[in-house]
Amino acid sequence: MHELSIVTHVAKTLDELAEENHLTKIGSVTLEIGEVSGIITDYFIDCWDYFKVRHPLLKEAELKLETLPAVTWGEDCKQEYETVRYGRICPYCQSEHTFLLTGNECTIKEIEAE
Ligand SMILES: [Zn+2]
Repeated sequence: MHELSIVTHVAKTLDELAEENHLTKIGSVTLEIGEVSGIITDYFIDCWDYFKVRHPLLKEAELKLETLPAVTWGEDCKQEYETVRYGRICPYCQSEHTFLLTGNECTIKEIEAE
């Protein structure tokens, strides 16, 4: 139920935004989803559809998803590489001293409101 809890979290953030800015309706929401965030986009969309009909603010909101590529940083050789392709081991120096720079997030990039 990872996806549903994220949808709930996003909706809560949008509620707060709407209240602050006196919005009554949200037209579309663009979310950036990291490549290795573990979020299954089809399932995420199902959750969103389930959720939005119960949520007046989001009733007509269109969900747009953008994938954010995962990038890992190799600490020993100070180079970036594609996480999905090489995993945790740096392809340049075979070091395990690496960490994820981007790709694990789910953030609200843009909303269109009325
Ligand atoms: Zn390296």
